[in-house]
Amino acid sequence: MRTFTQISALRTYLRGLRLEGKEIGFVPTMGALHEGHLSLVQRAARDCDLVVLSIYVNPRQFGPNEDFEAYPRDLQRDLQMASSAGVDAVLIPTNEEMYPNGYQTVVQLPELGSLLDGTHRPGHFDGVATVVCKLLNIVQPDRAFFGQKDYQQLRVIEQMVLDLNLPCKIVMAPTVRAEDGLALSSRNSYLNDKERLAATVIHRSLCAVVELTVRGEKRPKVLEECMREILETEPLLKLQYATIATPETLQPAPEEGLERMVALVAAHVGRTRLIDNEVLVAETRFKDLS
Ligand code: AMP
Repeated sequence: MRTFTQISALRTYLRGLRLEGKEIGFVPTMGALHEGHLSLVQRAARDCDLVVLSIYVNPRQFGPNEDFEAYPRDLQRDLQMASSAGVDAVLIPTNEEMYPNGYQTVVQLPELGSLLDGTHRPGHFDGVATVVCKLLNIVQPDRAFFGQKDYQQLRVIEQMVLDLNLPCKIVMAPTVRAEDGLALSSRNSYLNDKERLAATVIHRSLCAVVELTVRGEKRPKVLEECMREILETEPLLKLQYATIATPETLQPAPEEGLERMVALVAAHVGRTRLIDNEVLVAETRFKDLS
């Protein structure tokens, strides 16, 4: 596995491989790798000839009172995991390389970037869209792989790639979970034992609405109420939102519901902010029987 801190060196390396006709897969991360990240690497290795992983804790997507300083960093461990998972090249750019003196450009999606997490983390998606746009331009992959875990992020990136005609296919991979259902996240390491247990209520609330939609319930009001009731049973959890949205726009789903919707939750457990989601697909089997 090759590691690069310089953008120009990675570009030279990739240029040769591209000329050989190799398909390049790209997995951007902020490091503190876990099985969720590795599942993206495995998917990229299956779909492409070559896997590039980036590790960059992007300061521009953290708010002033967020956890940029505290964000877990363990480069040696990350490099070992990346190498064992089959990554071919790792980019670890410095802040000076990414945002040199005089840097100005911001990529902003005023609609998708200002809803949900965008409301609770103002400017977050400007930071995400800008860094991912830069990374896609640096690596110029054929495909880039993102987790469903960060559903709004994925939609922001899909829309940006479409709007800016970036020649890259965006691939969504399913959320990897712990055995008790908690979505794996680098931030889970902030949770103490009690909080870790409390956090499982998030996935339980999502499972409950998946179950309800399978039985034919589509009304967002009913589904949201169901999530809220379950989430409110956990005193350590402070809910930010539990919403049923239209999967493409992330606007609230219409009153009568849709065949396909997405349930999204964001909450603090102690001081740790967690997000999760499930796509809901209405079951038509029971209607067919009547
Ligand atoms: P991060 O390092 O948190 O910025 O995440 C890097 C990539 O890994 C993003 O595309 C995330 O959506 C994805 N990811 C993070 N956690 C998971 C998970 N539990 N399952 C699948 N993908 C994940």
